[in-house]
Amino acid sequence: MTQTLKADLCVIGGGSGGLSVAAGASQMGAKTVLIEGGKMGGDCLNYGCVPSKALIAAAKKAHSLHDAEIFGVTGGPIVADYGQAMDHVEEVIAGIAPHDSVERFESFGVEVIQGYGRFSGPREVTVGDTIVQARRFIISTGSTAAAPPIPGLEECGYLTNETLFENREKPEHLIIIGGGPIGMEMAQAHNRLGCKVTVLEAFTALAKDDPDLTSIALKTIRAEGVDIREGAGITKISRKADGAISVDLENEGQGETLVGSHLLVAAGRKPNLEKLDLEAAGVSYSKTGIDVDARLRTSNKNIFAIGDAAGGFQFTHVAGYHAGIVIRNALFRMPAKVNYEGLPWVTYTDPEIANVGMTEAQAKEKYGEGVKVLTFPYAENDRARSERKTEGLVKAIVTKKGKILGAGIVGAQAGELIQPWALAITGKLKISTMASYISPYPTLGEINKRAAGSFYTPQLFSPKTRKIVKFLSHFG
Ligand SMILES: Cc1cc2nc3c(=O)[nH]c(=O)nc-3n(C[C@H](O)[C@H](O)[C@H](O)COP(=O)(O)OP(=O)(O)OC[C@H]3O[C@@H](n4cnc5c(N)ncnc54)[C@H](O)[C@@H]3O)c2cc1C
Repeated sequence: MTQTLKADLCVIGGGSGGLSVAAGASQMGAKTVLIEGGKMGGDCLNYGCVPSKALIAAAKKAHSLHDAEIFGVTGGPIVADYGQAMDHVEEVIAGIAPHDSVERFESFGVEVIQGYGRFSGPREVTVGDTIVQARRFIISTGSTAAAPPIPGLEECGYLTNETLFENREKPEHLIIIGGGPIGMEMAQAHNRLGCKVTVLEAFTALAKDDPDLTSIALKTIRAEGVDIREGAGITKISRKADGAISVDLENEGQGETLVGSHLLVAAGRKPNLEKLDLEAAGVSYSKTGIDVDARLRTSNKNIFAIGDAAGGFQFTHVAGYHAGIVIRNALFRMPAKVNYEGLPWVTYTDPEIANVGMTEAQAKEKYGEGVKVLTFPYAENDRARSERKTEGLVKAIVTKKGKILGAGIVGAQAGELIQPWALAITGKLKISTMASYISPYPTLGEINKRAAGSFYTPQLFSPKTRKIVKFLSHFG
């Protein structure tokens, strides 16, 4: 029998964005319904950030043993058990899962319905036998791996981020289609766990980041043994009788066939919209996501879209940020708008690549050649030397007057080191603050301060300064 629920807020999708909205709204007293068709926690917990970072941690451990000798440490032969590394991944997910569980959300007073929701009108969603009518709806249905249109790919079958972490059989030769952050993170991790890895990227690997930074990371990953093919044109994929995967490539008229044991597709994402019947609610969308304004409202002003479903930046912290924006708009009717000026993002290769704000190219496009680019290498930092992590660079982009427009870092702990820059941009601090705070010695954080300090190098060591110092020295 059909039942009708009435609520203040109905959230469709219980991943990073949806759970943040549901937790916040319910604890502020709004009657909240949450509809989740798959696993609570969404991609980030089950198939994305958490398993990928847990696998990267296992791979990093294995790799650290390889260069232990340089520190005077030797052990027995290094054995990286792929299956056990995946067990570790599963344990990490299980440890976090209670935080995102149905029980926890019900304890907040959220009505959780398990099933896929679809709009049955501009102000109602149907899930199974239940109709939910709400004042406001939040679409937070996330995204899924998109498969490129390569002949034979569907018939061959392949792994995606949804199936990779269930696999316990070590790939002898993992072929990865896609050299973006997911592809490169998984390539390096698998290589470090003893798999042969080939990455096939149609254009440029890690193309969304500054090439001054990515070139350093890609050099390291290649040196470790990952075969990264950029400009790779895949013409056909097939599965051989013995189960092996055959990939036909063509590059400048030259043909080549690669044979691998496993195939991972990490070639972009598509928003999860097909089950929603958005037409029934009058919500417009494109193939990249739901159309939203700066307040994250859709073409139906009672419906908001957040996170990966809204296209744009596809990160967990963006979905969480969106959650705060829609709570203010939907519950408090405050006209809160998104502002991505201080948005950081990190690729968890080793070395990590982190960015916030504008890249050099973006800054030059907006402000012209007048912007200053400040850099400082890890190689000149004492802590980096002690740790033997000298490969890396901090790069900050500032206006002539010292306004910080962006920063990028490649190197150890880049994801941690980018945070003062994110704080500076958000808090509108000038480069003088970054250059003058006291940084403890010896830390990698000093690299940030030294990069910022280089803003003043031309003035400090100019002939004019020397003249002033000389003049003052006459007065004792
Ligand atoms: C391998 C990988 C690694 C990643 N690593 C990082 C990282 O290190 N850092 C980072 O910031 N981001 C990372 N991301 C991106 C991050 O996972 C996503 O940006 C984030 O999960 C988006 O949150 P969301 O709420 O929009 O969607 P999700 O978290 O995916 O949640 C969407 C939920 O909606 C449900 N759903 C879909 N349709 C319906 C429907 N009709 N009815 C009910 N429920 C529905 C789904 O089952 C899912 O649970 C990674 C992604 C991948 C794939």
